[in-house]
Amino acid sequence: MANLILILGDQLSTTLSALEGADQENDLIVMAEVHEEASYTNHHKKKLVLVFSAMRHFAQELEKHGWRVQYQPYHPNNPAQSLQQVIATAVQQHQPKRLITTECGEWRLHRQISQWHKTLGIPVEIRPDTRFICSHKEFAEWADGKKQLRMEFFYREMRKKTGLLMTPDGQPEGGHWNYDADNRKKWTGKPPAPGPFRVEPDDITQAVIKQVDEHFSEHFGTTDDFHFAVTAEQAQQALEHFIDFALPCFGDYQDAMSDTEDWLFHAILSPYLNAGLLDPMDACKAAVRSWHSGQAPLNAVEGFVRQILGWREFVRGIYWLLMPGYAQENRLGNTRKLPWFYWTGDTKMRCMHKAIDATYRNAYAHHIQRLMVTGNFALLAGVKPEEICDWYLAVYADAYDWVELPNVLGMVMHADGGYLGSKPYAASGKYIHRMSDHCANCHYKVNKATEDDACPFNALYWHFIDRHRDDFANNHRMGMMYRNWDKQKPERREALIKRANWLLEHIEEL
Ligand code: FAD
Ligand code: SF4
Repeated sequence: MANLILILGDQLSTTLSALEGADQENDLIVMAEVHEEASYTNHHKKKLVLVFSAMRHFAQELEKHGWRVQYQPYHPNNPAQSLQQVIATAVQQHQPKRLITTECGEWRLHRQISQWHKTLGIPVEIRPDTRFICSHKEFAEWADGKKQLRMEFFYREMRKKTGLLMTPDGQPEGGHWNYDADNRKKWTGKPPAPGPFRVEPDDITQAVIKQVDEHFSEHFGTTDDFHFAVTAEQAQQALEHFIDFALPCFGDYQDAMSDTEDWLFHAILSPYLNAGLLDPMDACKAAVRSWHSGQAPLNAVEGFVRQILGWREFVRGIYWLLMPGYAQENRLGNTRKLPWFYWTGDTKMRCMHKAIDATYRNAYAHHIQRLMVTGNFALLAGVKPEEICDWYLAVYADAYDWVELPNVLGMVMHADGGYLGSKPYAASGKYIHRMSDHCANCHYKVNKATEDDACPFNALYWHFIDRHRDDFANNHRMGMMYRNWDKQKPERREALIKRANWLLEHIEEL
C-alpha cells in the first residue's frame, strides 16, 4: 500500500486536498466515527446524526467511484475510541508509506495530529484546506500590523479577489459595498416564510438516529423530525430551495425574529458548508446569478455574499491567527456560571425561551437569536466566556471550533478586547422588541426597567454599561451610551443598579 488518507467528519468534499493526486488502486481512505470526537462536548443529537449519516453516505459515494475505504461505524465498545487509535491500527495492518490528511478545523485536534508522526513511525502530511477562499498566509498578511481587525475591510479585499458583485472596472455593484441599512425590517407574518429544505431520513439516517438515541441519550436536543440533507446532492437542492424561495426576502428580514417562525428567510446552509457538503463559492455564485436574473434584489444578495465571503472567512482567519491563546481570553473579567436555563429553556423571558427551545428542537437558531438574545444575555450577565463558548459549540448543527469560538468569544462576549468587533453588541429589551413580536407574549414588560415585572434585559444593560466604564467610556462608538447613562437622575441610576443586582442574584429564577 502507498498511502493512508484520513478524511474527517467535516471534510466530506470530493475536492478535498487530501485526495489530490491520490491513487485509487494503492491508497486507502480511512474514516471513523469515534467516541472521543462524538463526546468531547455535549453535541446536540441532531448534529451527531447529521455528521455520522453524512459520513456514511460520503464513504458509500467514494466506494461507488472506485475508492477503497476502511470505515469504522460508531459503537461504544469499538476497540479504537480515538482517531489516533484508529490510524495506529490501520498503520499496523497496512504498513503504508505515509499518512495524508487535510488540516482539521480545530486547534485541539490539529495539535494532536501534528504530533502523530512521532508515534506512528511514518511521515504525516497535513495539507492546507483549500475549500476556504482565503488561506492562512493571505489572512495573516492582511492582518499584519493592524491593531484591530475589521470585517468590512477584509470583505472588500475578498470581493476584489473573487470578483463577486464587482463591475468590470473594479467597483462594487450598485455603487456600495454594503446594503446593511436596508436589512432591518420587522417581520409581521407576511410574506410567509418558506421553511427549510427537508429530506426524509433514508435507511442509513434512520439507523444512525436509532444509535444516537441509544448511545447519546444524555446529550442535548432531540432527533425528532430530523430533516437535514446528508449528501452533497441534497445540500445542492437545499441551496436551490434557499435561492428560489428565501433569498429574495433574506436581506429585508435578516435581523428579524419571530415568536411563531423558527427559520424566517435564512439559508440554513451552514451545517452543509461546514461539513463540506456544499462549496462556499458555489453558494455565493448561485446567489449572484439570482440577482443577475432579476429574481433577488441586490440588498439580499450582497447581504448573503457578505456573510459567507466576509464573516465566514474572517472568523476563520482570526481563529487560526490567534489560537491557542485566543480561547483563554476573558478581557471583561467575567466570572458567572452559565445559567441552567440555557440547557432547559425553562425561563419566563420569552425571547430566551423561544431561542433555546428552537435550538433544542432544531439544532439551529438564526444569527440574530444567537447574537442578540442568548449571546446578549450572556454578555450582559457577565457569563464566563469558556462556559458560553462550550454551550454554543454543543448545541448547533453547524458548530465547529474555528467558527464558533470567534463568534462567541469575540463577537458576542467581547472577551478579546475588541480585536474582532469595534464595540460590544450589548442591547436592552428595546432592540428585541423592535425586531420581534416576543415581548407581547412575555411575562416581563419591555417598557419597564426597575419594577418586579420589568424586562431583565433593561436593567442588566445599564449594569453592563456602568460596570464596564473603564473598558468602554473612551470607545467613540459607546460615548452616547455613557452620556445617556450619566444624564439619568441619580435615583433612577440607583434603582436600575439595584434591580440588576437582584436579577443577577436570582438569575436561575428568571
Ligand atoms: P444565514 O444567516 O442565512 O447566512 C448565510 C451563511 O453565512 C451561513 O450559512 C454561514 O455559513 C455564513 N455566516 C453568516 N454569519 C456568519 C458568521 N458570523 N460567522 C461565520 N459564518 C457566517 N456559524 C457557524 O457556522 N457555526 C457556528 O458554530 C456559529 N456560531 C455562532 C455563535 C454566535 C454567538 C453567533 C452570533 C453566530 C454564530 N455563527 C455560527 C454564525 C451564524 O449565526 C450562523 O452561521 C448562521 O446562523 C447559520 O445559519 P444560516 O445558514 O441560516 O445562515
Ligand atoms: Fe425578552 Fe424582555 Fe421582550 Fe421579555 S420583555 S421577550 S425578556 S426583551
